[in-house]
Amino acid sequence: MKIFHVHTYRCGHAEHVPDEAYIRKAAALGADEIWFTDHAPFPGDPFGARMAYAELEEYVTTLRRLQAQHTDIAVHIGLETEYFPHFDAAGYYRELREIPGLEMLLLGQHMAQISDDPPAYSFSLPRGVLDREEFVLLGTALVHGIESGYFDAVAHPDRIFRRCGDWDARMQSMASAVITAAVRAGLPLERNLCSMESDRLYREAFWSLVPETAATVIGYDAHSLREMERRSIVHALL
Ligand SMILES: [Zn+2]
Ligand SMILES: [Zn+2]
Repeated sequence: MKIFHVHTYRCGHAEHVPDEAYIRKAAALGADEIWFTDHAPFPGDPFGARMAYAELEEYVTTLRRLQAQHTDIAVHIGLETEYFPHFDAAGYYRELREIPGLEMLLLGQHMAQISDDPPAYSFSLPRGVLDREEFVLLGTALVHGIESGYFDAVAHPDRIFRRCGDWDARMQSMASAVITAAVRAGLPLERNLCSMESDRLYREAFWSLVPETAATVIGYDAHSLREMERRSIVHALL
């Protein structure tokens, strides 16, 4: 069993336990693989809810040490991050891909870049605009991120509809664009166990569009030991 998509205390909104506690818990739950994908920082630290840029090296170094120490379970090292054209142009995703020991970039689009000079992001838009248009901004950014070639999997793709009401034709067309891009690039789409705990975040209408042959991965999105434990019960039932 693979426990995929685990965060650490460094992001500032996860339980304050050492990384090793997640490894021990995962092994105790019967996993033979654990994948850490904490929220990636950006140079200059322009965003909250993630480690500081200065912590990135320690994150990878600490996990590499734990990887060497644990032979009972395979410890994998990744980062979850948004795709922003501004940072792509600056070479940042290429830089991340070159970090020794970093095995995967998980595309998790929590906001989108809306202008380039100066860079501005969707969280600065009025609430009414976000309610109507956020899924288009996030979905379009997902497609561009998928096509950039820097990412290995797409986190909670159906969460782009978090502010939407009932499923409609515009949502259907955005969902199809994301799914088509992921299938073409061969990137797994993540069925997120955290999203499944909420009606608004997990969209059956999205998953009904995903072809059976498409690659998918179950993600825990665990920010605490309790979440890992609770989601392992649901995982076993899927
Ligand atoms: Zn988080
Ligand atoms: Zn996450």
